[in-house]
Amino acid sequence: MKVLVLNSGSSSLKYQIIDTSTGDSLLRGLVDRIGMTKSVIKQKRFDGDVYELEDEIISHSVAIENVLKLIVDKQHGVLMSINEIDAVGHRVVHGGEKFSRSVLINDKVIKAIEEFSDIAPLHNPFNLRGINAAKKALPDVPQVAVFDTAFHQSLPEMAYIYPIPYVFYEKYKIRRYGFHGTSHYYVSKKCSEILEKNVNNFSVITCHLGNGCSVSAVKNGSSVDTSLGFSTIAGVMMGTRCGDFDPAVILNIMEREELTIEQATSLLTKHSGLLGVSGVSSDMREIKNAAKNGNKRAELAFQMFCYIVKKFIGAYSVVLEGPDAIVFTAGIGENDPDVRELSLKGLEFMGVKIDVEKNRSCIGKEMIISTDDSKIKVLVIPTNEELVIAEDVVKVLEEMEDE
Ligand code: ADP
Repeated sequence: MKVLVLNSGSSSLKYQIIDTSTGDSLLRGLVDRIGMTKSVIKQKRFDGDVYELEDEIISHSVAIENVLKLIVDKQHGVLMSINEIDAVGHRVVHGGEKFSRSVLINDKVIKAIEEFSDIAPLHNPFNLRGINAAKKALPDVPQVAVFDTAFHQSLPEMAYIYPIPYVFYEKYKIRRYGFHGTSHYYVSKKCSEILEKNVNNFSVITCHLGNGCSVSAVKNGSSVDTSLGFSTIAGVMMGTRCGDFDPAVILNIMEREELTIEQATSLLTKHSGLLGVSGVSSDMREIKNAAKNGNKRAELAFQMFCYIVKKFIGAYSVVLEGPDAIVFTAGIGENDPDVRELSLKGLEFMGVKIDVEKNRSCIGKEMIISTDDSKIKVLVIPTNEELVIAEDVVKVLEEMEDE
């Protein structure tokens, strides 16, 4: 089956064509600056062919039209005809408490995703734009929604209820949801396969460290706790998002600086994290470069980041009563040996022993980076959220056939 995987953001659209018979990605691309000046599409085919197109792309519908043209382009595409697309899989950020698994998109599902825009205003409305545009362009092709929150619906109540008046859970469903679910699911499952363990008798801490970051505790194939929460700004400090801190701080700043809710939201989502502390960048590579050149705040941001990751590893080791493994994934987790080393420094007491050489040599590839006698294994596993989405599409469609 050929599945078109779409990840639609406010001004961007990421896409991939995945052949689910092999799991291979045939082509991937990004439409950037939708609705702005100088919109651009960058596409890369499996054989290395790269194509870039600057055009006026005023909406997600126009973006999809362009993408479909490029997918069948004689020179740069991979399909002969659009009819070869068997299904579309959409990444949807928030599925609330309603969706603990992927579903075929129909009017009811669209309505539910719309409803969750109240609790995910920065994500769901833009995911819906992608869904509506794809439905318009490919009306006869089945479309499946895969939710970032679904994998974490297994959290126990004590991990997802917040210590605030319970009435807000009842009234507004305010609780921990967790995100990056497809990534935590993928790397936790892959980890059990690599270590040849039965997934039903296996505990792992998964550290997804990219622009967005989250750490999860996964027990017997189910997420039991995770660092992102009601929104995507909780837990570990991120590129521009704050992570956990005393909630009184934002109330105090809002009062003193007379900030609106929009300004406060922007402060916490776009101006905090690595960028906020360093004043240099949200990009870990630039933070490290600046730190090397003697920038004290960049060094502080780096140290803080690793310290916070380490604290979550500690907390979830206790939650899992001793994990079998720890996995690092996503941009920083896959590519940054320094972050991995510092986040695990001094954890020999609980059975974590890093092989320094292996860790150093591991950039962007799958590898066990702990020593052979390390009680808790440490792995780097490149994530593949698009593959999970494509495989879920197949699962949902097969189940429908069985019904
Ligand atoms: P997103 O959450 O947007 O998918 P990614 O998973 O691509 O983000 O991660 C982006 C982060 O990964 C950035 O902070 C970037 O600096 C970091 N990163 C990418 N390559 C490296 C590298 N070689 N060393 C350190 N950090 C890296």
